[in-house]
Amino acid sequence: MEQEDVDRLTHAMHEVKDKVTFCRTCFNLAEGMLCPICSDPGRDPTIVCIVEEVKDLAALERTGEYKGKYHVLGGCISPLDGVGPEDLRIRELLERVRVEGMQEAILATSPTVEGEATSMYVSGLLKPLGIVVTRIASGLPVGGDIDYADEVTLGRALEGRREV
Ligand SMILES: [Zn+2]
Repeated sequence: MEQEDVDRLTHAMHEVKDKVTFCRTCFNLAEGMLCPICSDPGRDPTIVCIVEEVKDLAALERTGEYKGKYHVLGGCISPLDGVGPEDLRIRELLERVRVEGMQEAILATSPTVEGEATSMYVSGLLKPLGIVVTRIASGLPVGGDIDYADEVTLGRALEGRREV
């Protein structure tokens, strides 16, 4: 690489680091106070999709299927790693649901033991607020064989079945 390119790249990286922060509402990456999703008036403010990390939000956005808001927890409950509910942005989520008058929360945490535990914990706190709480169905990977799927995936695929 040319020295000039290296300098340009270094400069660009510094600029990104200085500019990018977390959205103060949903904790997505943002270049100002709010991320592009929170500042988009076209997004449905009555639905919130709860994810562990920003990369999960990005993956859901790529599907183009979802038009509501998000809330990034910042991880999942994992006692082995010393991560408890108080380390996640759960308090902020409950506050948002109350203040913003949300009507549905979609739990899109990972289909892992930790993700499931987090989902159950958060739904236990959301339900008393009187909103509809749903969990994304995690099905089988496209192109995979049923007999190669682990039992958690298969169990969830069964649970999330739809009428055809
Ligand atoms: Zn946001």
